[in-house]
Amino acid sequence: MADHSRTRWSLALPVLIMLVVVVVYSVRLPQRELRPYTWTGFAMGTLVEITVYANRSAEGAVNKGFDRIGEIEQLVSTSISDSDIALLNSAPIGSYVQVHEDTAYLISSALEFARETRGSFDPTVGRLVDLWGIGTERASVPSGEAIRHALSGVGYQNLVLDEDKRQVMRNTDFRVDLGAIAKGYACDEVVGILQNAGIDAGIVDLGGNICVFGTKPTGQQWRVGIQDPAAPRGSYVGVISISSGAVATSGDYERYFERDSVIYHHILDPSTGYPASPGVRSVSVIAPTGIQADALSTGLFVLGVDELFEFVDRSEEIEVVVITSDNRVIVSSGIAEAFQVVKEGYTYEIR
Ligand code: ADP
Ligand code: MG
Repeated sequence: MADHSRTRWSLALPVLIMLVVVVVYSVRLPQRELRPYTWTGFAMGTLVEITVYANRSAEGAVNKGFDRIGEIEQLVSTSISDSDIALLNSAPIGSYVQVHEDTAYLISSALEFARETRGSFDPTVGRLVDLWGIGTERASVPSGEAIRHALSGVGYQNLVLDEDKRQVMRNTDFRVDLGAIAKGYACDEVVGILQNAGIDAGIVDLGGNICVFGTKPTGQQWRVGIQDPAAPRGSYVGVISISSGAVATSGDYERYFERDSVIYHHILDPSTGYPASPGVRSVSVIAPTGIQADALSTGLFVLGVDELFEFVDRSEEIEVVVITSDNRVIVSSGIAEAFQVVKEGYTYEIR
């Protein structure tokens, strides 16, 4: 009898070990099978690409992400006649307009970025954006008189928000344009939706506003290319490796037209009403969130090299890669180690 039970136990042990191995292996197996799936679409006037590392169909969550981008677009697009922003822009000056929560949040954030950049980022430039029409078929150089007129009401101090009541008012004759901040916000929102759906890792690219989250199954960092302003799209001066956060670039090569050998691009200097010409070709901002990266890439572009680096020095959250008109690539010291040079023909500096 005693012998039998010993035999049973000596059999049970290997079986138990086998079982543990099988259970551990099958739990780990999906992890090993994580692979990237990419969906593309068109929204907010730009190409949207969502890549997720998932071990089951992530399509539902990705669709929710696309729906969310559509929702935000419906609220802030200036070309949708009943969007919050279109209604605000056509309401009488000096009277409050009720807006949705997202719109109130975007305006509140925009005002904060405007204050931080001392008005280099300014969401009240809408009339100037319309006047120049850059990126549209009616793009042209306006008369000095027309620019002065469009500029006269500009100034973020004249945009009043009662955040608790979600009411907004224009105090002077300007139009709101959230084109330099809304895509970054949408990027953050999509990341939130994917994370809530239990997706481990992914990358959201909304027209160059890039947000990453989670760790790739390989454990490698995310690599984001910095576009060469002088070369076709997809040709990079360098690559940044990050483990989380966002990267956005504002450049003079994105949307522009040329008249009499002068380039007129879509980033306007709110103090002059003309395209900003700070000796900079592009500013890429690396930040914890998409909304910061988007708004600040536009605002810092307008500031120009010296002032923008003062901003970066003061900020604990922001790093930059700046490409100047005289072919220098200046990388802020906090991100220098994560920046890999991939192109010759530029002078590389750390600052
Ligand atoms: P993109 O939209 O090409 O990614 P940006 O994020 O730099 O580029 O946003 C540029 C858009 O923001 C312009 O097309 C215009 O609608 C608006 N804009 C232009 N200049 C400013 C500015 N100084 N501050 C805020 N918004 C601006
Ligand atoms: Mg921007």
